[in-house]
Amino acid sequence: MEMLQKCPRTDSEVIILNNRVDLHAHTTASDGVLTPTELVELALERGLSLLAITDHDSTDGVAGALARAAGTPLEVWPGIEISTDVPQTEVHMLGYFVDTSNPKFQDTLLKLRDSRVLRAQQMVAKLNALGMSLTFERVRQLAGEGAIGRPHVAQAMVEMGYVQTARDAFNLYLSRNGPAYVERFKLTPIEAAQLIREAGGMPVLAHPTYINPGENSGFDFTAFVRELADNGLVGIECYYGDYPPETVSELCDIAREFDLIPTGGSDFHGRGVYSADLGEREIPAESIERMRVWRTRNS
Ligand code: AMP
Ligand code: ZN
Ligand code: FE
Ligand code: FE
Repeated sequence: MEMLQKCPRTDSEVIILNNRVDLHAHTTASDGVLTPTELVELALERGLSLLAITDHDSTDGVAGALARAAGTPLEVWPGIEISTDVPQTEVHMLGYFVDTSNPKFQDTLLKLRDSRVLRAQQMVAKLNALGMSLTFERVRQLAGEGAIGRPHVAQAMVEMGYVQTARDAFNLYLSRNGPAYVERFKLTPIEAAQLIREAGGMPVLAHPTYINPGENSGFDFTAFVRELADNGLVGIECYYGDYPPETVSELCDIAREFDLIPTGGSDFHGRGVYSADLGEREIPAESIERMRVWRTRNS
């Protein structure tokens, strides 16, 4: 079902929002709960026409999703979500239409995933020192073959009863300034955008409101987006998760200022894991069309 809704730009404009797509979803290739096959099956159940697989630092879920979707009405786009570092905060860079067979791209992803393993070991050591008897083996088991992340550490902590929820684990221990936080090798946002471009992909700045370096950091978001736009950024995630209309509107203004495509998605990790459900977040049909045009011109 396509819905007509008022555009957040001005009161008089109307745009078509497409609620049968999801451009931001995770699988067991990173910290999602569903396998690529299960995710595609859920998307089919929900009547989605388009789904992008955007795992953290891994494209290992893409092939399985494409295979399961073959011959069905669901179109699957290959994607990635790379965690990058800036002083005091984290920036996630999405990449659509990446060539998953690009050697430099895959080498870098492997390096990023390796740094996740070492960091998980170090985080477990810190939690051990804080009196929690967790094992790295259990965290590794929870991550399975996928890119290991803080959510897997959080899950092990919940399992052992040290915290009630994963959110508590982040708030009390694992967030950037938490007592069990450990740094790891990361790209800068510009490096990630360039890497995605080199692999033929479209870089999109993910969930921009999460970029939160603190009051006195002197961080200038507009200048940050301008610099990225000068370095290959193509889109910005405006229709994200449960962003309210005011946030969407502010981000759409920035997208227009720098001629970026306003994209969006649920950031689905599994049923009930985060607030937005698969396919729940509506995206302008025009944005999807602009992405398709970009893909045709750049591949
Ligand atoms: P990592 O990839 O190891 O840096 O972990 C980041 C991931 O943890 C994010 O992509 C989310 O899936 C999840 N996450 C981040 N913050 C929280 C939070 N406060 N509560 C629960 N999960 C979170
Ligand atoms: Zn995640
Ligand atoms: Fe993210
Ligand atoms: Fe995500």
